[in-house]
Amino acid sequence: MDTHKRSIYLKFLAIIVFPMFAMGLIIVFIATGAFTRSMHHEIEIELANLANTVVDAYDRIYPGDYTLVGKEQVAVLKGDKVVSANTEFIDGIREKCDVHVSVFYYNTRVATTITDGKGNRLNQTVVNLKVEEDVVKGEKESFYNNAMIDDVRYYAYYIPLYNSNNKCVGMISVAKPYDEVQSKIGKSILPIIIISLITMIVAAIITMFYTKHIIGIIGKLRRYINKVASGKLDSEPDADIISRNDEFGDIAASVSEMRNSLKEVVEIDSLTRVYNRRCGEIKLKQTIENSKKQGIQFALAIGDIDFFKKVNDTYGHECGDEVLKAVAKELKKLMVGKGYVCRWGGEEFLFIFDKLDYDRSLIALNDIRSKIENLDIDYNETKMRVTMTFGIVEGNTTVEIHHQIKIADDKLYVGKQRGRNMVVN
Ligand code: GH3
Ligand code: MG
Ligand code: MG
Repeated sequence: MDTHKRSIYLKFLAIIVFPMFAMGLIIVFIATGAFTRSMHHEIEIELANLANTVVDAYDRIYPGDYTLVGKEQVAVLKGDKVVSANTEFIDGIREKCDVHVSVFYYNTRVATTITDGKGNRLNQTVVNLKVEEDVVKGEKESFYNNAMIDDVRYYAYYIPLYNSNNKCVGMISVAKPYDEVQSKIGKSILPIIIISLITMIVAAIITMFYTKHIIGIIGKLRRYINKVASGKLDSEPDADIISRNDEFGDIAASVSEMRNSLKEVVEIDSLTRVYNRRCGEIKLKQTIENSKKQGIQFALAIGDIDFFKKVNDTYGHECGDEVLKAVAKELKKLMVGKGYVCRWGGEEFLFIFDKLDYDRSLIALNDIRSKIENLDIDYNETKMRVTMTFGIVEGNTTVEIHHQIKIADDKLYVGKQRGRNMVVN
């Protein structure tokens, strides 16, 4: 039972939660990608604008060309200012715009806001060959999302610098640390991740409750099916399952149909439609058990159609069958509310007067005998009548069943000897 429970639980969880988990992952993955791409683009535009502004402003603040001076201690001048010593402007940009600015003479940093771990400006460092090729030699503004400066990754935008003779002599770069941007992206993605997680947890909880409910219904169905399978053909499914108009209700209805068919096959005699001998014995045992428990009286009788062989011999076996059917139908009708009748053998019937004392059973049986005697049976325009002889005994919970039946049978035999169509008590 428990292993079944768990396997259904896990399957339902797997069906609901795993696809959601996969969907959550895909959403986060796609959202991160899209967000990162749009961030890259935005940063490129932002850095390009800033870099152009810095280039223009730099030229206005420090007019003149870039030149080299000195022999041993070489310095780069812009007009008459030493570039590396005049960093107020780029420091201001760093503070206000939260970006790093570097000025290059050809491929070499000559002024920068970027510092090493000890706070020293990273002057006299060179850009990699690719940047030099693109910007200094190619004279093309360029954006990189993987510029490595002192082992730190940056987004960086480079613009070539020109002297008045239009010769490219260096570059200005504006850069933003890659990690800073990534952590911003991470923060923007976080709500999506949290919402995905919450949705998954809610789905799991709903699934668990729903599964529990379904397992409850399946358990009830299983108990009902087990009862039917073990031969308890009088059992009924729980009322709340019968009343369902979903698949579970359908299954219960089908099982009930199967139970009815089984009951029919197992309990009913196919020719006469009354209980068969096997079922008669079960009913007899139940009657005795009830009588033992509740101290209620009962009686047993055996009845046999008189000269039945003659019917067969005169009108044919088929007619004999029709007579048997008609008699059985009448007996069944007459026994309603009194107990059960079953076909005990060929043209022999067993009567169980359940919860009826001997005297009343005797009266009932005499009435049955008389009604059978007056029963008109039609067979192909031939009208016929039959009589029956009966032996009856008072029910006894201490005497073995078959012995009691034997006593009734002996009385029946006596009735046959005495001329038939009578009840012998
Ligand atoms: P008695 O009054 O002494 O009971 O005479 P009887 O002819 O009824 O008794 P007997 O035992 O000699 O014959 C019973 C006959 O019932 C024999 C058998 O062929 C017939 N019989 C038993 N079962 C069926 C059945 O299912 N259909 C038909 N048509 N006949 C049956
Ligand atoms: Mg007979
Ligand atoms: Mg007989």
